[in-house]
Amino acid sequence: NRAIVLKKRPQGEIQQGDLVLEDRPARAPQDGEVMVKVLWLSLDPYMRPRMNNAKGYMDPIAIDDPIVGESVARVVESRSDKFSVGDLVTCYSGWQEYVTFPGDAPMVYKIRQKDNVPLQAYLGVAGMPGRTGYCGLMYVGKPKAGETVVVSAASGPVGTVVGQTAKAEGCRVVGVAGGAEKCSFVVNELGFDACVDYKAGNLEADLTAACPDGIDIYFENVGGAVTRAVAPLLNPGARVPICGYVSAYNATNMAAVETPFDVLKTLDPVPEHRFFLVTEWQDKHREVTDVLASRVASGELKYRETVAEGLESAVEAFKGMLKGQNFGKQLVHISD
Ligand code: NDP
Repeated sequence: NRAIVLKKRPQGEIQQGDLVLEDRPARAPQDGEVMVKVLWLSLDPYMRPRMNNAKGYMDPIAIDDPIVGESVARVVESRSDKFSVGDLVTCYSGWQEYVTFPGDAPMVYKIRQKDNVPLQAYLGVAGMPGRTGYCGLMYVGKPKAGETVVVSAASGPVGTVVGQTAKAEGCRVVGVAGGAEKCSFVVNELGFDACVDYKAGNLEADLTAACPDGIDIYFENVGGAVTRAVAPLLNPGARVPICGYVSAYNATNMAAVETPFDVLKTLDPVPEHRFFLVTEWQDKHREVTDVLASRVASGELKYRETVAEGLESAVEAFKGMLKGQNFGKQLVHISD
């Protein structure tokens, strides 16, 4: 069994020697436990702040522990009456090839795979990021038909679901993404009304032109310059679900970063806004997963993914994702 473990807490961008691939013998399951083999590993931006020694909304990863992460995995040994050998699950395995855990461990879900839905989609648009986009938009953003919704990191799994869900609710949807190719995909494939390339050098003017009626919902994924450009366009009554601000995740001093909260509270009136966690809707896990998987199966919910091959490629893929080198959901394929 191989695992990628945290050897040194990164200062800024991850450097050689911070995350290290090691052999770690897999532990045989005891009574009540299962051993799973990881097939697909999900790479998600939240993993970077968890490498810091700061208590955020989750505990930091301990030195020498595998990096946290969700995967699609197959049960290869079972001493639990809850799982049989061959069951496919999503679970928080961490960055490793095998892992053993109790059959009643939290956040382990049997996958009810629908026809035409690839397994790895249960880590992307039909998985945690998809539920984040769906629930954050519907329950914090509260979209109404005819409103203008702006979403940043628009081509990623969260943004993809936010935009297409908002379209289904009858909204005008404007994405923000890095580069012409991503913007073209967001409009032509995902069906957004417009997409602004924040790297093109005219962010404020392009966003203003794309939002002639102002902005009613800004779904925040990135922070920084995009938030500053959005802020003056927010209409009275606007809502801002704060999902994340990936532009700051490599900051050497998080405390010095200008957060979306800092920007929003300077506005008059201050728009309705709050940070949310997808786990707030854990009771809707099955229901929302089924909605999203059905939309994937029917072809209604479109998405892209970027696949890195083998656990050894995870670190570079992760570093790239924080800089936008991924196009759609970033995955690591570990095994068939
Ligand atoms: P993505 O696949 O969209 O990857 C991150 C993207 O962020 C990159 O591809 C890049 O896209 C964009 N980005 C990176 N740096 C910058 C920058 N400086 N300015 C603007 N954009 C930048 O990630 P996800 O869809 O998985 O996640 C999106 C957000 O949702 C993240 O902030 C994440 O932390 C958050 N999240 C929050 C959850 C919650 O429970 N609150 C749960 C899951 C995710 P581009 O090339 O377009 O710049």
